Amino acid sequence: MTLVAYTRGGAEYVPEFLMAIDKEKCIGCGRCYKVCGRDVMTLHGVTEDGDVLRPGTEEYEDVEDEIVKKVMAMIHPENCIGCGACARVCPSDCQSHAALD
Ligand code: SF4
Ligand code: SF4
Repeated sequence: MTLVAYTRGGAEYVPEFLMAIDKEKCIGCGRCYKVCGRDVMTLHGVTEDGDVLRPGTEEYEDVEDEIVKKVMAMIHPENCIGCGACARVCPSDCQSHAALD
């Protein structure tokens, strides 16, 4: 059965949860981060080798000079409420959303 939610007025709707962000398409603009109030994602650094590392971690500090670009990546996917705001502001169509069973 598909997971549903309810509006304040009691109307049922189907949340579309953030499932993935394509790191090849993402331009690291940060728009999705600004509209999400659930701490689902944050900007990460990408090394020349393509490793995606979270700032503030030991791994990131070790290779900080080798970061060639920033991309958005999920840190707490379980926090997503499926509002879809991030998809509406993304200029690169790099996010995938889906309803859950
Ligand atoms: S769907 Fe809503 S809650 Fe989920 S990541 Fe996007 S903006 Fe955040
Ligand atoms: S809005 Fe799209 S392009 Fe911009 S950081 Fe988020 S996922 Fe990347």
